Amino acid sequence: MTDERTNPTTVDAIVVGAGLAGLYATHRLHSMGLSIQCFEAGSGVGGTWFWNRYPGARCDVESLDYSFSFSPELQKEWRWTERYATQSEILLYLEHVAERYSLRQHYSFSTRIVNAQLDERSLLWTVASEDGRTWTARFVIFATGPLSTSNIPPIEGLGDFSGRILHTGQWPREEVDFAGLRVAVIGTGSSGIQAIPQIAQKARHLFVFQRTPNFSIPARNFAWDGEALDEVLGSYDTRRALSLASKAGTPHPSSPTRTFDVNDEEREALFEAAWERGGATFSKTFADQLVDPAANQYAVDFVHRKILSIVEDPEVAKKLLPIDHAIGAKRICVDIGYFETYNRDNVTLVDLNATPIETIEKTGIRTTAALYEVDDIVLATGFDALTGTLNRIDIRGRRGQLLRDVWADGPRTFLGLAVAGFPNLFIVNGPGSPSVLANMVLTAEQHVDWIANAIAYLSSSGFAGIEANVDAQDAWGDHVSATAAGTIIGKGHSWYTGANIPGKSPVFMPYVGGLDVYRARCDEIAASGYSGFTLLDAATSQGVTVGS
Ligand code: FAD
Repeated sequence: MTDERTNPTTVDAIVVGAGLAGLYATHRLHSMGLSIQCFEAGSGVGGTWFWNRYPGARCDVESLDYSFSFSPELQKEWRWTERYATQSEILLYLEHVAERYSLRQHYSFSTRIVNAQLDERSLLWTVASEDGRTWTARFVIFATGPLSTSNIPPIEGLGDFSGRILHTGQWPREEVDFAGLRVAVIGTGSSGIQAIPQIAQKARHLFVFQRTPNFSIPARNFAWDGEALDEVLGSYDTRRALSLASKAGTPHPSSPTRTFDVNDEEREALFEAAWERGGATFSKTFADQLVDPAANQYAVDFVHRKILSIVEDPEVAKKLLPIDHAIGAKRICVDIGYFETYNRDNVTLVDLNATPIETIEKTGIRTTAALYEVDDIVLATGFDALTGTLNRIDIRGRRGQLLRDVWADGPRTFLGLAVAGFPNLFIVNGPGSPSVLANMVLTAEQHVDWIANAIAYLSSSGFAGIEANVDAQDAWGDHVSATAAGTIIGKGHSWYTGANIPGKSPVFMPYVGGLDVYRARCDEIAASGYSGFTLLDAATSQGVTVGS
């Protein structure tokens, strides 16, 4: 494509990240004949599934859906063993994908990119690694993940603790043995809720430090029986078509029934059936559940009753009731035996609302009520989501402006894919796209395909660059905010709004309008010759604006 190939450090495209998005980008761009150089901070492929090795880590979208759809052969040859695969099985799958498509050869592993700088005249990007090496490319694709920067809470004294401190998102590769130990888990979001039942089975005593009780629905996980799996694999195309036409990228449609269409008895039976089916589709029991607060309250009350019936100690049960947010306003969790774990003699719940942590000391965690002496502290404190990873890289676009400065009041993107002032830079699963609100394998595939098609279009039409227009970006940002404002999820305080990170601008970051609507909009823009973007000529860095 370009004569920059003669220089070994210059390529057509750079991909940062070897999670599922980066792997697919690498495969797709290489298949187009582009010269590529790819980077990954970790020592292997897998992204989320490379880093999050904590006990109990699993996907919460069913594995048959949470897997690549781009190759019918790959899709049929991989046989998931469980409804929700474990971290190790998902990692094995992604390693298989890397092997099958010879993707590792393109990567420089254990290489963290810390800097990316645009040369405005040539429209080339130069990226630099932590160890000072540089590469130049026409296009840069940041497949760096929306949940790849761990949130380490600024608790006083954390550094003074004499035992192990483990973050669920940076779990060691070797087995962590909790046998005979006193363990503290701080955090009861998705990761904590998955890890707590597993750690409780191993530890001498487990102390759970809870600030926000969260809603969790039983996974009802099961091992696939060969014949049943064959049957599903036989109709995979239908399953995928349903997923692509849905809001969340899964084949389970929302019920058309509204909460107040049925009487109390029928409503209870429908909630009960959803609880028994298990999983995050509980949010789809009624069509109005995530929109109408009065409808949502019925779902809240149902789950409260379940918690009260499972947890034997009424005082503990009461502390576990999520009362400060609607169900679905934060990411709904999916668990295997979470609430039941509090019936164990070796588990203590510490309510941080009643007795906050004052400090961490050499031997344990001191709250306003007591010192809890522990051997290990597990931080299940989540991530600096959606913007945290990109904001830690010095990304300089036009006039040397830093992306993190442009995003100081919250991220602004066009479609979550591109940013005005940063031509030829693409983000996969970025803020302003469905990303964390949908099945992220399908959202990654859709973004990568869109980017690849845009690059092919530029090449065939003789352009060297593409840049989002400010007015199109502003209109999209307003649409993202307006869409969120009409929902329960958009009104909550959660990591979707950066509420878990002190000082982060409170902006609802993902696009809540649904994968179906979003895909159609992206397709429309591509079909129009990239309206809302300016197509650029390298020699002048001047462009042709294709409307907005
Ligand atoms: P990642 O998998 O995060 O990969 C990004 C990679 O980029 C990382 O390996 C990182 O090391 C690398 N990187 C970042 N910055 C740099 C840099 N500067 N230089 C070099 N490399 C860099 N989503 C779902 O849809 N369904 C689920 O069921 C689901 N379950 C989840 C369970 C857990 C425990 C977690 C944490 C997340 C889950 N997610 C789920 C979200 C998950 O993050 C995405 O599904 C998906 O794995 C994201 O893929 P990715 O390639 O975009 O990013």
